[in-house]
Amino acid sequence: THFGYETVAESLKASKVATVFSSVASSYDTMNDLMSLGIHRLWKDHFVRGLNPGIRPSPSSSSTTPREPQRILDIAGGTGDIALRMLDHATTLNRDTTAHVTVSDINPEMLAEGRKRLSSTPYAAANRISFLEANAENLHTVPDASIDLYTVAFGIRNFTHKDAALREAFRVLKPGGVFACLEFAPNLSNPLFNAVYKRWSFSAIPLIGQVVAADRDSYQYLVESIERFPKQEDWAGMIREAGFVVPGQGREGAGQGIGSEGWEDLSFGIAAIHKGVKP
Ligand code: SAM
Repeated sequence: THFGYETVAESLKASKVATVFSSVASSYDTMNDLMSLGIHRLWKDHFVRGLNPGIRPSPSSSSTTPREPQRILDIAGGTGDIALRMLDHATTLNRDTTAHVTVSDINPEMLAEGRKRLSSTPYAAANRISFLEANAENLHTVPDASIDLYTVAFGIRNFTHKDAALREAFRVLKPGGVFACLEFAPNLSNPLFNAVYKRWSFSAIPLIGQVVAADRDSYQYLVESIERFPKQEDWAGMIREAGFVVPGQGREGAGQGIGSEGWEDLSFGIAAIHKGVKP
């Protein structure tokens, strides 16, 4: 237990985790804004900017040479937040109108929210977006070495077998492909901030969930799942064990904002970005 609360996460069977998201699907975006005071939008913008999706036309390349469209797989893509940012970035900043995003989620209700949001965009009309209902731990419909960029934002802490999800990420990525994860972290770097933040999250978030979405348990589960997620260094180690090269690790300054430890802390370590490159 934490601060006297019963641990809902422990009482929920792994098979029930996906159903939590059925109850939160329609209120998910509003709740995200309330719980993070809108900061999740800045983190997502930063995450996407660092990945720089889309292929810039090379000045030396002949305009008649067709380029393979960049294939992006957004796992646990839920309401399409990351996918939309990816396509906006590729199109407006890199002038790449071919990059394609597959939004994948285990939960049909979350996927339906994404479909609703993305179907009215020009990307849907241009067939640059598709949807896949799948468990990230078993992506058997996605061929080996077919993906350039695998993203997962605020999803992987909910997976029962994170190592299986990492193995699948490694399998579906092309050599040189990038695994990128944006996730809440269990401990802030400053112990004082950490104590204040924990007290706030364990009391305010379930309460906001109760008042706004009439669903205290689902939001208490979401808070507890952050506590159970591996610390930044352990998570970087798991990514490396899955076969990825972790940028920055042991190489000061390498890897697009990733620190020498192998990850990038956001907002004092409330969230973190981890990346891995398939050799
Ligand atoms: N990526 C979105 C975002 O950043 O707003 C949604 C994140 S939401 C907190 C977590 C998502 O993970 C939910 O849509 C849930 O259905 C999905 N999820 C949970 N377990 C999963 C699994 N094993 N495989 C794929 N998706 C899963």
